[in-house]
Amino acid sequence: MEKKTQIQKSNLLHLVESKLEELKQNGSYRQFINIQKSTTNFPEFQFIDKRGNTKNAVNWCTNDYLALSIHPHVIQAASAIIQSQGVGSGGTRNISGSTAAHLSLENTIAAWHKKEAALLFNSAYQANLTTLATLGRNIPDLIFISDEENHASIIEGIRGHNKKYIFRHNDVYHLEEILKSIPSEIPKIIVFESVYSISGTLAPIQQIVRLANKYHCHTYIDEVHGVGLYGPYGAGKVEELGLETEIDFINGTLSKAIGCFGGYISASAKWIDFIRSFASGFIFTTSLPPSICIAAKSSIETIINRAEIREKFFKNVEFLRRSLNEKNIQYTGKETHITQIVLGNAVTCKQIADYLLNQAGIYTQPINFPTVPKGQECLRITITPKHSFDQIHKLVFHLGGVLTDSISIIGRASMLSKAQLNLSNEIIKKKFPWIKVVIKYTDTRGDDLQDVPLHTQEGSDFFTDRVSQSLGAHEADIAVHSLKDLSNEHFFGKNKFAVIDRDEVRDIAIFNEDITDKLKKGIILKIGTCSFRRETLAIPFLKEVLPGFGNEILLESAPIRGNIDTRLQKLSNKEYDGIILAFAGINRMLKTNEYKDLFQDLLKNKKIMVLPLFECTPAPAQGAIAVECLVSNPTASYILDQINDSFLFETCASEKKLAGKYGAGCIQKFGISFVKTNDHISYYAHGIDQHENSIDEWYPTQEIKNTIHPDNILHSDDLGFIAERINLRSSAYIKTSAVFVSHISSIDKGMEAQIQSKIIWAAGTATWKKLAAKNIWVQGCADSLGFENSISLLQTPLLNLKDDISILTNEESAKRWESEKYPAFSTYAIHYKSELIDRYKIKCAQLLFWSCFAHFDLIKDILPDDLIHACLPGKTSELLKQHGIRPILFPTIKSFYQWKKKYSQVHSAA
Ligand code: PLP
Repeated sequence: MEKKTQIQKSNLLHLVESKLEELKQNGSYRQFINIQKSTTNFPEFQFIDKRGNTKNAVNWCTNDYLALSIHPHVIQAASAIIQSQGVGSGGTRNISGSTAAHLSLENTIAAWHKKEAALLFNSAYQANLTTLATLGRNIPDLIFISDEENHASIIEGIRGHNKKYIFRHNDVYHLEEILKSIPSEIPKIIVFESVYSISGTLAPIQQIVRLANKYHCHTYIDEVHGVGLYGPYGAGKVEELGLETEIDFINGTLSKAIGCFGGYISASAKWIDFIRSFASGFIFTTSLPPSICIAAKSSIETIINRAEIREKFFKNVEFLRRSLNEKNIQYTGKETHITQIVLGNAVTCKQIADYLLNQAGIYTQPINFPTVPKGQECLRITITPKHSFDQIHKLVFHLGGVLTDSISIIGRASMLSKAQLNLSNEIIKKKFPWIKVVIKYTDTRGDDLQDVPLHTQEGSDFFTDRVSQSLGAHEADIAVHSLKDLSNEHFFGKNKFAVIDRDEVRDIAIFNEDITDKLKKGIILKIGTCSFRRETLAIPFLKEVLPGFGNEILLESAPIRGNIDTRLQKLSNKEYDGIILAFAGINRMLKTNEYKDLFQDLLKNKKIMVLPLFECTPAPAQGAIAVECLVSNPTASYILDQINDSFLFETCASEKKLAGKYGAGCIQKFGISFVKTNDHISYYAHGIDQHENSIDEWYPTQEIKNTIHPDNILHSDDLGFIAERINLRSSAYIKTSAVFVSHISSIDKGMEAQIQSKIIWAAGTATWKKLAAKNIWVQGCADSLGFENSISLLQTPLLNLKDDISILTNEESAKRWESEKYPAFSTYAIHYKSELIDRYKIKCAQLLFWSCFAHFDLIKDILPDDLIHACLPGKTSELLKQHGIRPILFPTIKSFYQWKKKYSQVHSAA
């Protein structure tokens, strides 16, 4: 028996779970927002989003139409009674009686509706349900004739055994047909609403009254969304039409325009006495708190006496409608104050509402089945006199952007461009999941000229102009480009742009496997490059860092064109010994499902070198994807605004602007790169400008007070620090595939043997070159910006080393890295050898550049008080800040020496 009960219980639980799941699947699952209402900021409120963050939003679905819930008179009235009479009423009217507050409110309501009496309920829902059910139960042959869009409380009220007819919404012809079909002697009542709460439609009240009179029928009107707003004294639509005597029952709420709580019916004294005497839902429930009754009374008096509140309300309704019309946004509910935007799909409705709330701080409630029939799912928008014109503008601006179901994007048909288009699609879909993205392709001049070096051709925008032109021809809404291919004229021109993603900015050199043999033989190596910049910067750098095995490194640069897969194929075919490409392109392909295998195959048995930022500076905006649209396309413009990454946009635009200073176009022999370490951003321009002058400039330029004597600018490496080798424990065996060499002191003979088979990364190019001199192949370096700044590079799919790398460093740093769960080995310890001359240097120092924190730590007690500290923006600066020091940040050691040189020149000239 017990087992059977258990099975029944678990079956029921299963049923409950599956019903909830069904709601979730079809988008109708109701989630209630967690909000903090405010008397001072209404209609703005605070809410807690899914991640637990507190955010602000404006309420666009409140039924507190006149904002009377926060009106000082109303608050004052409620507070005074709470003080004098307490909070609750203490019982049903039957037990605790009617307080003066209850009676006074009922009298006020009755007078307002020009009726003999009124009866309070705990809500209008309760009033509808209880009154209609009481009528039905006590008058068994009463027939209900109900509008098909009537509120749930009415549907529940007429659910009993009485006969009922449902007439098509607001269709008086259908209503008359029904009335005609019922014998005249049978009692009947037409039940309808004045203002329909969701669709915002208005009932043909006069015609219904006329039919009711013609067919000797009673009438019951739900004025929940009419009271407080319409009519000379705000008593509702019935008052506006002067039909109080024609309608038998008026139902209203105290919770919406009146801004308090509770509901009522108002009718003749006989009917009220009847309901009061037979209605279980009135008799057996605790009555409203007296404070609420007094607050509601005060609110009704405010509505009657302060017509300007309603005037402002309708002015706002009109302004909202006008703004929607200007943007061509379709809505219904034009006869009333309720604005409904039908979306016709529960999932879309929820996605748009979620987007508006979380991205734009706009709270609109999605209205789904069963509140509306399936296919009529909508956003219901309401307003109050407290909404500002600015808030209305913002609402309409965002609605204008999101109410679209599809958008087209266009780009080149190359594999890389397809990957970029797919990524753009994903980014749009992530933000706007309801928008279908159609992808289109076009060829470009650059594709037509596959085998011609582009600098030999007139013009620019070889890979972008046709893509952009398709926007003007309305072939697509959004164009997708590699930003580095866009000329400054176009990017800073009349169209709108967003930068939506940026992969690694560096270049990469890729070699065939036999490169080491060829280097050992000392033969000339053919390196494929496709830009003057790479030829100018990367080729000389490679000469310095390829292991030479005692030979001079002979490199010959040869032009290479074609898409990246073609270029890699040419390398595999041995047409070149090495090629130089943008890291970003390959990395992007490795991130796709479609092309990953092909590229892994093309990269098999290749040796790579990730080229450094400062010696082989990348092209401006390298690795970035830009999307473009016409300013006249509002939806596309809106989408661009929302998917733009402002940090990427700013940095890419700054790089492009800087490039403009030195001469743009296909013939650039320089690179520009931003460098971000912690919160510090700087830009570096390096190479040869249009006038053949060499460039080596940092932006912004360092502003350092000019009272320092050049001799007193020191670098901590020049002080008496010594690196003392520590013998590695015999257990110190490096298990990872890669090793990060933070200083050449980390490498002794034993270590050298151990790392031979490993992938080597260097802290900077100085260490790289020293390792190359030991004939060690280095895959890349951290540009002296610290290991932490190369972690994102190391975890790219192409390198995939983040969790497979050990750090060789000094004793102190090794401890720090170990505490951050990196395998770290200390191969040397830093000591300070105190000598008189060194101490004197330190005593006179005015600016000291720290190459590592360990240096500072060892001599911090003997530093002059007014010393200016300087360092790189990585770990050292962070640790100095923990000692209360605000160091001057140089992006690189090189930039420090460049600054020092310039400063000394200017100083000695002065
Ligand atoms: N009638 C209609 C048409 C409504 O829209 C509502 C509220 O949503 C009610 C009745 C119930 O009103 P109350 O909130 O006072 O229960």
